[in-house]
Amino acid sequence: MPDFRLYNTLTRQVEPFAPADGTTVRMYTCGPTVYNPAHLGNFRTFLFEDLMRRVLALRGWTVHQVMNLTDVDDKIITRAREQGKTISEVTEPVIEVFHRDREYLRIQRAEAYPRATAFIPQMVALVQRLIERGVAYQADDGSVYFAIAKFPAYGRLSRLDTREIKPGARVIQDDYSKENAQDFALWKAAKEEDEITGASWDSPWGRGRPGWHLECSAMAMDLLGDTLDLHCGGIDLIFPHHEDEIAQSEAATGQPFSRVWCHGAFLLTEGAKMAKRVGNVSTVQGLREARFSAAALRHFVFNTHYRKELNLSEEALAASRQAVRRVGDFAERLRSDTTMALGGTPALVQAADEAVAQAEAALFDDLNGPEALAALFEFIRRGNAELDRKGGDRTAVERARAALDRIDGILDIVPDREPADEGLAEWIEEQLAARRAARIARDFAEADRIRHELTSRGVTIEDSAGETHWKLD
Ligand code: AMP
Ligand code: ZN
Repeated sequence: MPDFRLYNTLTRQVEPFAPADGTTVRMYTCGPTVYNPAHLGNFRTFLFEDLMRRVLALRGWTVHQVMNLTDVDDKIITRAREQGKTISEVTEPVIEVFHRDREYLRIQRAEAYPRATAFIPQMVALVQRLIERGVAYQADDGSVYFAIAKFPAYGRLSRLDTREIKPGARVIQDDYSKENAQDFALWKAAKEEDEITGASWDSPWGRGRPGWHLECSAMAMDLLGDTLDLHCGGIDLIFPHHEDEIAQSEAATGQPFSRVWCHGAFLLTEGAKMAKRVGNVSTVQGLREARFSAAALRHFVFNTHYRKELNLSEEALAASRQAVRRVGDFAERLRSDTTMALGGTPALVQAADEAVAQAEAALFDDLNGPEALAALFEFIRRGNAELDRKGGDRTAVERARAALDRIDGILDIVPDREPADEGLAEWIEEQLAARRAARIARDFAEADRIRHELTSRGVTIEDSAGETHWKLD
């Protein structure tokens, strides 16, 4: 088996990765805060994690992925208060939308989606343990805080300069900057709005609710054990969220919390981070209405390495839509009975084998999506040329089919067949425009390829007097 390597945020290095027990990868992925439908930025991270789990499985390991749903937090309570609802009335419909969007994007189901509100006893127990160990204390505001000065490893993940730590200073909000590396809240004393919205529970320290960081530590350790193999999330979670998860978990167990940490870079819109608070959000529903297929969106996301920033633009999405059409056409061509009857060449087999080897090598080397895609498109180019030769060998076609299935089993970018509606006309027009451009550029091979593609879809084209007309058979 080839080496499998990942960039570990803890060491800031690409290093070999394997699960501790040699068979099962215990993977925790921080999930959505369910007060608003997740935007494509959130889904960029979830798609990176989908790629991760598929590649881990391809490598031969069993994957046990847990993705939490944060269904109690400051923003959810504010929303509930504004709308005169309980927190679960706010979160239930959003969780439904999340799964609908996830399925639309072909993101495989994780093994578990624990909700924070279902793990309150485990969270209380964890706080109790931290108090017993002398690293947590109840302050005069009634809330319980983690004393970062009592945990010398604090700041290791985010490379926080320990001199920035201000002993005794406290921060109650869940989101804060490195400049505010202070004692953070584990358990927040209940306020009136918490009681009204159903966001308050009994505890040894009075009524209250868990802090966000505590939620993840408690659920991760309850469902996956004290030491995880892999913990993932977006890059913004490194500080304070993951730093605080490490502090709480390791101070309680004395064991490393996660062996490896992986973080995905941001999706930007016009250079700014996409965020629910900002208006620059693209929801999956919106993209779906704009007729961007799951295949196109996956291509768009995987065509940039997960550790590089990615800019959302109409042009990039349109290019991905075009690219996956090529994949779809090739898949259809390979699957057709005619292709099987005409058979393939030895060079088709070679192209197929090389594509699989290259795509897998790329994916096993820190999930290199763009290189895996490049290998696939090279296979499509060579594959189409070889099929044109009608080599007569049926097993060659079978090998090519198997190669495409293997690569697409990871990327999952073959679009669903388009219904024969006005979408088809639009597609034909796009093809004709591309063919015109190819001819102007004197790229006749490409122009012929497009004509061939159109013919194989039952579209006949006629050039006359400088104009092109088309009709459907
Ligand atoms: P949240 O719902 O805000 O808790 O975020 C859920 C996940 O989405 C986390 O892993 C975040 O790091 C990630 N995330 C949030 N905004 C973006 C973005 N613009 N690009 C990529 N990932 C993001
Ligand atoms: Zn988390």
